[in-house]
Amino acid sequence: MSDLGPTCALHPDRPSQGTCAHCGTFSCGSCLGWLGGRQICITCKDEGRVAIYGIPWEQRDQLGLFTAWARTAGMLYTQPVQFFRKVDPYGPIGGAVLFAAISGLWLALLYLTLVTVVGALLGLAIAFGGSNWDPSIAIVVAIVGVVYTIVPPLSLVLGGFIWGLVHHVVMLLAGGASKGLGATARVALFTSPIQLFQFVPCLNYVAWAWYLPVMGIGYTQVHEQSGGKSAAGILLPVLGCCFCYIGLYAFIFAVEGL
Ligand SMILES: [Zn+2]
Ligand SMILES: [Zn+2]
Repeated sequence: MSDLGPTCALHPDRPSQGTCAHCGTFSCGSCLGWLGGRQICITCKDEGRVAIYGIPWEQRDQLGLFTAWARTAGMLYTQPVQFFRKVDPYGPIGGAVLFAAISGLWLALLYLTLVTVVGALLGLAIAFGGSNWDPSIAIVVAIVGVVYTIVPPLSLVLGGFIWGLVHHVVMLLAGGASKGLGATARVALFTSPIQLFQFVPCLNYVAWAWYLPVMGIGYTQVHEQSGGKSAAGILLPVLGCCFCYIGLYAFIFAVEGL
């Protein structure tokens, strides 16, 4: 018996092929399966102890990229708690990066349209004004167009990682964030359909008041931690920034007062 090494909890005559990622039980090959990127035992699966993950974005091969994006964003907008319950904390990060990049693509298209319209109007105004067309104007319009196309997807992706890292460190200090940095980053990246509103004039403050609580819901669900720890992760860095600004302004006033 003992020369078999650890044996399956359900089949003592079979050697263990690994442990369940949820309950840690030694299990044989036929008692272990994959669920949301984790090896889970048959007992945990049958008793429903583990969540079955799966958001529409993970079916993008069948649904198509844009349908999958729209369904995922729709679920995030309307039922954030259920949405993040279905986000796999151990899932691959690449899919979440692609998702955030497509969120930025809508803004890029909007900006590109605006730049094209403004450029065309400028061209018409110059043509009808009788002045000579200066090629440098076209170059400026083209540069603005390129920058506004690249910036939204890039900033949503980079922002997801920066937010995720900052929040993760603070949540770790608060005793949370048990599922790893990847889980935090995935939440931050999957809130990109709300974050994109912060680039729309007049809506930027509304976006803030919307995506920060949704991020909190996400962290609470994926890390299975208290709302307080999620709130600490999100609010303490904001408070820190406020103090930095106040300090900066105090410094400027002090210097100007000299
Ligand atoms: Zn198990
Ligand atoms: Zn077994």
